[in-house]
Amino acid sequence: MSCCLEQERHLPVTIQLQLPISSFQLHPMSVRLLTTILILITAVGAVLAVAFKKTPTQNRGIKIVTTTYPLYIFSKNIAGENADVKNLLPNGVGPHEYAPTPSDIVALAEADIVVKSGVHLDDWLTPLLDATPSKTRTIIDASEFVTLLYAEQDSPETPTGSYDPHWWLNPVNTIAAVSGIGEILTQKDPAHAELYQANAAAYQEKLKKLDDRLRVKLKDAPKNLITFHPAFIYFVGRYGLKQLAVVEPSPGKDPTPQYLAELMSVIRANKVTTIFSEPQFSPRVMEVLAKDLQLSVRTLDPLETGPDVADAYQNIMWTNAAAILDADAQ
Ligand SMILES: [Zn+2]
Repeated sequence: MSCCLEQERHLPVTIQLQLPISSFQLHPMSVRLLTTILILITAVGAVLAVAFKKTPTQNRGIKIVTTTYPLYIFSKNIAGENADVKNLLPNGVGPHEYAPTPSDIVALAEADIVVKSGVHLDDWLTPLLDATPSKTRTIIDASEFVTLLYAEQDSPETPTGSYDPHWWLNPVNTIAAVSGIGEILTQKDPAHAELYQANAAAYQEKLKKLDDRLRVKLKDAPKNLITFHPAFIYFVGRYGLKQLAVVEPSPGKDPTPQYLAELMSVIRANKVTTIFSEPQFSPRVMEVLAKDLQLSVRTLDPLETGPDVADAYQNIMWTNAAAILDADAQ
């Protein structure tokens, strides 16, 4: 599912303030204050729990916490068995659906390294880090290692002139991010420098091969893609395709009738015959469009969730390419 509502679903919204608090209809400011207090209480408890842990910390490797699924997969490939890598988002939960749990706060308090995706995708992390201060923790913003592109769709998450957050959908960016993360792991844990460097190099080799194969595979692919949410500009930019239009420009909000009418005329004018949904996600609007215009619906995975498998990135990117080739859009 899309990752693009995180700004609307900040922590204060996701912390559950159920009865009896909500029944008093508190002023929003009061709700925010109570939420902050709840977070702080949880955070202080977590920090104390870490500080007073009776068992001495064994050297079980460096502790890495990631904010999103791609970063989890990349970090595991670099760190191998030497690190304890935890993704804050449970499997199947996209960044916009995430609500922090007390165990997440403990993980952040204990982390040696936190790897974030950046470009506003994980802004919800900031209050959690503020609530769990650490003198030794290193924060990596992986988006600083990559080439960012401006968003093509104007939406609440990506207003005009802002960067698109889905940078990992270009393997060249992923290769750069792996270099950056690998370097910081090496600095942080020099005793295992050779391991991290070797792992990063081996993973980058696989990513390079993937990129080469994708370029060949997609050379004659249908160019114009209609995707569900504006997630694929890095992918299409790399492989000479075009994200012609999206079905839902503001993820989580149904497109307006006027927008749908314009979209339908774009689909007709370009003789597009396939639209792309996302995994575990089949919104009614896709079915309506497909039925009205006699389109086929296939799946493109933006890698916002996925299996805990080392080669998941290559596998999913390759499956996406196959889905595009299968499409009979012109
Ligand atoms: Zn997204």
